[in-house]
Amino acid sequence: MMGAMTNAAIDERGFFGAYGGQYVPETLMDALRELEEAYGRAKNDPTFRAELSALLDEYAGRPSRLFYARRMTEDLGGAKVYLKREDLNHTGAHKINNALGQCLLAKRMGKTRVIAETGAGQHGVATATCAALLGLACTVYMGVKDMDRQALNVYRMRLLGAEVCGVTSGTGTLQDAVSEAFAAWASCLDDTHYVVGSCVGPHPFPEMVRDFQAVISAESREQILLREGRLPDAVIACIGGGSNAIGSFYHFIEDEGVELIGCEGAGHGADTPDTAATLTAGAPAVYHGMRTYFCQDDQGGIAPVYSISAGLDYPGVGPEHAALHDAGRARYVPVTDDEAVDAFEYLSRTEGIIPAIESSHAIAYARTLVPTMRKDQIVIVTVSGRGDKDVAAIARYRGERIHD
Ligand SMILES: *Cc1c(COP(=O)(O)O)cnc(C)c1O
Repeated sequence: MMGAMTNAAIDERGFFGAYGGQYVPETLMDALRELEEAYGRAKNDPTFRAELSALLDEYAGRPSRLFYARRMTEDLGGAKVYLKREDLNHTGAHKINNALGQCLLAKRMGKTRVIAETGAGQHGVATATCAALLGLACTVYMGVKDMDRQALNVYRMRLLGAEVCGVTSGTGTLQDAVSEAFAAWASCLDDTHYVVGSCVGPHPFPEMVRDFQAVISAESREQILLREGRLPDAVIACIGGGSNAIGSFYHFIEDEGVELIGCEGAGHGADTPDTAATLTAGAPAVYHGMRTYFCQDDQGGIAPVYSISAGLDYPGVGPEHAALHDAGRARYVPVTDDEAVDAFEYLSRTEGIIPAIESSHAIAYARTLVPTMRKDQIVIVTVSGRGDKDVAAIARYRGERIHD
């Protein structure tokens, strides 16, 4: 059944081929085993699945629409373009799919509290939202530099009842928040679950987050078959840690005719130091509990990364993507800030959809690929989130200022 996927199928130690695993201190091993067991039982339990499915529908607003982008298709003059509208979910992105799944699992495990890391604040807001919904206490770790840049999301999380804990170590950004959240988790394992925000970290997080996000491709596969009577030729998604991408790819992995393309945040260029294009410019290493590709400096240390998009600004990538990359089953391309900003404006005026700056990286690559394809071909692009949060930053990028 796994045919083309043998290289990326997960083994019992949590490896996708050469990537993944559980590189954590002994103090965390028991918690990871407890989580593995609890998740293993939950995912096969019809009650858990029904509860999650009801929340995804009634609360998050699923299924998300698969929208035929007529004007974009006509303008590009190649394949038909469909947009998978994760931006329409409650809280404005795909992150709620995972946050709902993990918070529901935390409750089932008898935990009374969740913690999370956040970069731009999107995963923090999604987790704080689900914690409020399910009556869990919530603490979010966030780099102080990010708190400054994303003050509105800090206020949102507090409004939702969460405590936001500023992280001053390192560069005061996402990778430091992840390290701090793992360290904090080790001291409160009994009553607390750590809701990791992407398909990264030690096993079972990459697999579990993938499963919760796989609802994206479960839906889009069914939607495109209904609408077009056949599978797409390509699926395109942006990649930070890789959760919206693996969710968008998952149910197409065994369909060898479907090309899978991940778009990395290249910042000022994948060949400059100001980049977050991990699979393009990085190399394998062990960090944050997993073996995978990381952006590294000359000494082999984890490099500070940069992208205009805070959601893509992570030095690593999920281990399943590393395996799909090495196996040649998925292709990963760098997209620069400039290209993403152009695409942000392009989708806004062409379809009346303001995409997240993260998602704009996928739109940007679609603008390159689609014109090279035939008119009878089909492409699905995931719009992972909405762009309201980015409007001020884009204005600044264009040298304008918005007064509030
Ligand atoms: C967080 C975020 C991303 C990047 O995270 P992945 O785990 O790679 O999906 C992409 N798009 C949006 C809108 C986000 O909020």
